[in-house]
Amino acid sequence: IPMLSESNYDRLRDSLQRYTRKPGYLDEVDQLNFTVLEVADALEEMEAAVAEHRQQLVHKIAEHREAQDFNDVLVNDSPLVIAAHTLQGDIKLLNNYGREMAGWTRLDVDHRKITDLILPDLSGHSITENLTPLISGKQTRLQTEQLIRSSSGTVSDLMWVHARVQANNEPLILSVGLDITERRKTESRLRWLSKHDNVTDLLNREAFHEEASLLIQQYSDSHLVDLMLLDIDKFASINDMYGFHSGDSILREAARFVERLITCDTIIARTGANEFCALLIIDKDDYEQNGHPLHNRPLHFYSVLDDDTVEITLTGVLATYAQDGYNIDELVSNSAAALRGLKPIERGKINRISESIDSRALRQEKLQVHDSIVKALSDERFVLLYQPIYNLSKERISHCECLVRMRSEDGHLVSPAAFMDIAKENGLMARLDLLVLRMALEQLGAWHRQDVDLKLSVNITAATFESDLFIKELKSLLLETGARPSQLIFEIVETEAINNLETARELCERLASLNVQIAFDDFGIGFTSFEYLRDLPVDYIKIDQSFIRYLYKRKSDQLLVKSMVDMALALGKKVIAEGVEDDGSADLLRNMGVHYLQGYYISRPRRVSELDLNYTMTVQ
Ligand code: C2E
Ligand code: MG
Ligand code: MG
Repeated sequence: IPMLSESNYDRLRDSLQRYTRKPGYLDEVDQLNFTVLEVADALEEMEAAVAEHRQQLVHKIAEHREAQDFNDVLVNDSPLVIAAHTLQGDIKLLNNYGREMAGWTRLDVDHRKITDLILPDLSGHSITENLTPLISGKQTRLQTEQLIRSSSGTVSDLMWVHARVQANNEPLILSVGLDITERRKTESRLRWLSKHDNVTDLLNREAFHEEASLLIQQYSDSHLVDLMLLDIDKFASINDMYGFHSGDSILREAARFVERLITCDTIIARTGANEFCALLIIDKDDYEQNGHPLHNRPLHFYSVLDDDTVEITLTGVLATYAQDGYNIDELVSNSAAALRGLKPIERGKINRISESIDSRALRQEKLQVHDSIVKALSDERFVLLYQPIYNLSKERISHCECLVRMRSEDGHLVSPAAFMDIAKENGLMARLDLLVLRMALEQLGAWHRQDVDLKLSVNITAATFESDLFIKELKSLLLETGARPSQLIFEIVETEAINNLETARELCERLASLNVQIAFDDFGIGFTSFEYLRDLPVDYIKIDQSFIRYLYKRKSDQLLVKSMVDMALALGKKVIAEGVEDDGSADLLRNMGVHYLQGYYISRPRRVSELDLNYTMTVQ
């Protein structure tokens, strides 16, 4: 019996063997022995079965543990936040990663709500609001992007997948979040880079133009808005001498220098290799009290390059919105032109565009031109060129237009384009016109004496035309030169004449009474009212060359010219087309009924001795 309880079955069998092998009848003891042996067998078998079972169990437990460990690894060590929470939002489980991110201990997780973990999204919706379709069972899975804030205050951006699951008969929501903070950072860095210059971190050109236009719209009423364009002096030689690496570091230092330089509200950009641009928003009161924020600011700083201390100077041009440009593009391009035009003496400081050398140079140049006109007038250094005008019905040159040239002191001929505007601005036109008139009439007188039947057309500015002295001068010049008034035509620019219609009409009438003819020059480019044409007793209209130059190629010009011609013909005016450069246009004009042609196709303006007055057009 003790051996049985000790599971000592083999010894038990050995010790019982001597009794059981004895022959004879079986008594109770034998009976007992057999029973014991049977029990031992049964027990042994049972124990073997139990052992096998245990073995299986141990195996199963090991398997289970492995699975559990695997799950734990998955849940806790994967770089995902995994949270399980009830439909009411109580967190049941938060994995290690989630706890680390939230800065919570295992204990912290109990009694926490999912709203304590996940912050509202960008539109301000809480996680519970976002999960409504899952809570109500309408959906089983959805995605959100929401932040987690750790107890230390750092914020991580997560992409969440939420799913409704059933665990132990209880519905739960499983939220799995992937940390995308880095990706978002890279994306925003890329966005930032697309707007910024990566050497200096300043805005780039495109972003600057965009922002500056908005700021101008926003502030130009209430503030002074200035644009400053800067470049680094001798930047190319710094690059050459110290290398591109140092060049870049100078650019960065210059960027920081410009940021410190500007004390008012501003945006600053690097707009070229060596060019910075800043928009300055200046408070008007500040400006009244303290002057311009950049007034007297030094434009240099020191930098150490390869152990040398180098002084870096910048040069700036300051432009003011509206005055120096009506939009950012104009401001920038005017400033750029001014910056390029600065003299060495103006480098190393800020120059106002309006005082900049550019406009100063222009003024200087104007003054010089003015002086040379005055001098040429008193020296009578003006020359007339004659451009033949071809009469289509008579097939011959019937008159010429006088076109003035100024002869410079070194003998060059200067075109009206280079001096006429300045002469007009300075009130010198009357003298010039009268000088031209005298020369023209002298030529007419000479032709008359030589029996040459040619008219002359003289350009006269409206101001001269309207002056009191004009008719008087004309009469005495006619007498003096022996020119016949019937050979004289005055050209007035249509738009100038219409400015003062009454005076113009009176004058035209007085000229007509003298037998002098009048032409409307540059007809069609101004605001033309055909009424004026009807009311003014002009004899010719000269269709502006801009309509004629490409006539042959442009259908639209053909239509316009045709209607001008028809109208002039209907009013009984003679039509001259100026600027005829090819035979195609000449043919078209002839067919339209134009009376006269003028242009390079017939002849350029020439000195009188070089004129070919016997020219005839070959008509196909
Ligand atoms: P405008 O009176 O309309 O003179 C015609 C201009 O067109 C002249 O330029 C002439 O050389 C040019 N031209 C003629 N045919 C052609 C052509 O086929 N093709 C092209 N491309 N150009 C052609 P210019 O001589 O330079 O004179 C320019 C303007 O200066 C004149 O325009 C006129 O308004 C003014 N001007 C010229 N001389 C005098 C003058 O003595 N007194 C006044 N007050 N103005 C003058
Ligand atoms: Mg003319
Ligand atoms: Mg003209």
